[in-house]
Amino acid sequence: MIDGQWRPSLAGKMIDVVDPATEEKIGTAAAAGIADLDLALAAAAKGFAAWRRVSALERSKILRRAADLLRARADQIAPLMTLEQGKPLIEARLEILSGADTLDWFAEEARRAYGRVVPARAEAVLNLVIKEPVGPVAAFTPWNFPVNQIVRKLAAALAAGCSIIVKAPEETPASPAELIRAVVDAGVPDGVVNLVYGAPAEISAYLIPHPVIRKISFTGSTAVGKQLAALAGLHMKRVTMELGGHAPAIICDDADLDAAVKLLGNAKFRNAGQTCISPTRFLVQERVYDSFLEKFVATAKALKIGKGLDESTRMGPLANARRIPALESLTQDAIAQGAKLMAGGKRLGNKGYFFAPTVLAEVPLTARIMNEEPFGPVALVNRFQNIEDAITEANRLPYGLASYAFTRSTRTATALAQSVEAGMLTINHIGFAQQELPFGGVKDSGYGSEGGSEAIEAYLNTKLVTQAGG
Ligand code: NAD
Repeated sequence: MIDGQWRPSLAGKMIDVVDPATEEKIGTAAAAGIADLDLALAAAAKGFAAWRRVSALERSKILRRAADLLRARADQIAPLMTLEQGKPLIEARLEILSGADTLDWFAEEARRAYGRVVPARAEAVLNLVIKEPVGPVAAFTPWNFPVNQIVRKLAAALAAGCSIIVKAPEETPASPAELIRAVVDAGVPDGVVNLVYGAPAEISAYLIPHPVIRKISFTGSTAVGKQLAALAGLHMKRVTMELGGHAPAIICDDADLDAAVKLLGNAKFRNAGQTCISPTRFLVQERVYDSFLEKFVATAKALKIGKGLDESTRMGPLANARRIPALESLTQDAIAQGAKLMAGGKRLGNKGYFFAPTVLAEVPLTARIMNEEPFGPVALVNRFQNIEDAITEANRLPYGLASYAFTRSTRTATALAQSVEAGMLTINHIGFAQQELPFGGVKDSGYGSEGGSEAIEAYLNTKLVTQAGG
């Protein structure tokens, strides 16, 4: 989608799309080359000039219309997402409906991008702080949440008055295209929203330094994020980075154990564990360790695995082939280093990228999986004695995205809130990723927030106008 037109790539290049449940080719996407990117950049420059002059009220109305269209089309789009990504149909549908809620949230934020008036030191002076859109945005998003990773950037940018070029995931192109279609159908002017697929490294290397682009937003791995942030820094571009995690889940001996098992089980195996906020290091206090482990292993073993389109499926395949050897190697390394395999640990079948829900217990800190993000359906369950030890382990890694805790003690909850180095902490429930709440990490997990009232700020410049009477 460039300048209001769905079009093939100028060079005629195509990318195959594969169903991860069957490994069969299900379609193709157009691969953008430099000539296509030049068209997208020209369109984004033109789109920005037009969109920034559209009133906040009108922008808000268009975003609301897009939300309504997306909601109305959710049942048609969900099977596309399941086919290309693998997640169960119910998860795909919820993701699309949540995307519509995100458009609504930012429609509201568009009307509240307030500046302020600062008291002046002299009579007749007026100090105005004005918010302006930062300019055309380049957004790079991954395949784990094909719609929601885009919509947070897209809706915030549009609310602020920016235009955007989205480089969407090549593995899962159809559902993002439907999101973009809803926004285009809602009436954004041509050139405001542009969508490309292609070779990620080629596209980012061209768009980030380009003078038209004023803001970069990336969701993906820490390693790639650091490269892109460095390039953006070289060209003084503003950046939001939503990167990897290795979330600790601290279960204290005074916790509601059944609630912890149920809620953390859902959080772990949702989207086959391919979630940046997935709980990964389960730190369980001595007294309840055996009981938690037994119940959690039972949960993992009971999960119904299958094709996402089957109504009864609770966990689908991994989204792409390369995650199978990655997970096998991490699991085998942990076992070789002394971890106990309690469930799963291997690929299921030989067709489709299915990996069994896996639980490893007593995993040594030297195991690679205790240090690298598994990004799959693997839970690591270790024991701790004192809460201080759990906090030390939680903070050991350079990641700092999500964290989880279960305790009935207010004192412990407060200690955790004050000590865990993470962008987000949820205690006794799973409360992440609601539009009105901040979403983002610290340390190697990145910077900037993609939720709450902070989110639109990433797409706004602050301008001071101080004016004396003429
Ligand atoms: P990867 O590092 O190859 O790619 C991650 C994402 O970055 C993909 O969407 C990819 O298209 C994009 N990308 C890669 N190189 C790029 C470049 N030079 N310029 C622009 N975009 C680029 O890893 P992968 O095999 O696709 O996924 C596995 C790892 O990625 C996981 O271990 C996880 O850490 C991370 N990941 C994180 C999230 C998240 O939500 N934060 C989502 C998907 C993947």
